[in-house]
Amino acid sequence: MSELRYDLIHDEYILIAPERLHRPREIREQIDPEEPKRCPFCPGNESLAPDEIYAIRQKGHWLTRVVPNLYKAVQIETPFDSHREGVNEVWGGFGAHEIVIDTPRHDARLATMTPREIFLWLQTLRERVTDLRRDRRLIQIECFKNQGAAAGATQPHPHTQLLALPVMSKARKAAFVHAHRYWQEHGRSLFADIIDYERESKDRLLRETEHFFAYCPYASAFPFETLILAKGAANLTDLEDRALQELAETLRELFVAMERELGSFAYNLLLMLPPVNPNFENAPFFDDLGDCYRFYLRITPRLYKLAGFELMSGSAINPVTPELAARVLRGDHASGR
Ligand SMILES: [Zn+2]
Repeated sequence: MSELRYDLIHDEYILIAPERLHRPREIREQIDPEEPKRCPFCPGNESLAPDEIYAIRQKGHWLTRVVPNLYKAVQIETPFDSHREGVNEVWGGFGAHEIVIDTPRHDARLATMTPREIFLWLQTLRERVTDLRRDRRLIQIECFKNQGAAAGATQPHPHTQLLALPVMSKARKAAFVHAHRYWQEHGRSLFADIIDYERESKDRLLRETEHFFAYCPYASAFPFETLILAKGAANLTDLEDRALQELAETLRELFVAMERELGSFAYNLLLMLPPVNPNFENAPFFDDLGDCYRFYLRITPRLYKLAGFELMSGSAINPVTPELAARVLRGDHASGR
């Protein structure tokens, strides 16, 4: 059974999920190109992936599909309580772990998906976050894609993970506290201030639409790191279909540019969502999230491996300036670097 253990030295919760240990062998089988028919996420193999939670269908065929993670790190059936083990604190592995199958197309990538396909994927994520937040015990929903082995992906078929937990990680909580303090001190959201500055400067700007602002962040931790900030929405669930369509077009344009420059690259795509229910940890800022927080997508190409400095400091060394990355992604590297 999995557990959420509290790391007393580093003040952080860690998921210990021994069920995941069997994975490597099965994964090798799944990604064996000799046996593509065994992909559990491909149409026709639905019996290999367990009970469907949600799907968008058209004429009897699914276009997106959500299933529980077979190797789930946490599960909703686990009792929601913590206890002490000597000096340590441990929670049962309570939570939800779901897999969104982004598309029926095994070899699709964000750069080759149509805006309509990306829109349906985003709609599915919005639907699942809306549903999961109804369970008041779930506080933080982590939604992410790992693409390519260097980014930790173990299954080539395009998919996204949703991990809903009863606690927030330290890094996530610190970011919310920081955004809240900025808003209290300045009377403006730090996201609005960043957008105003980056729009003016243009050095790192990639694309701006009515609801979104895409740019390479000033202190990018990864080469070609890109953020897509929501201008007005604190959560994905606040977005209407028209804004989702805009986000789909922005993502497609961005990934086409990235593949043009980086080839078929490994990356993590992180949807940085706010806590969805109040609890003791987020009480100081939960009611103000609509003012002080904006959700965003963080895309981190994994061109280099994380090493000692990153592990030790939680910081990063990035060999590519975000200004150069933005010029390259905008396609104007021919005109004076
Ligand atoms: Zn597949």
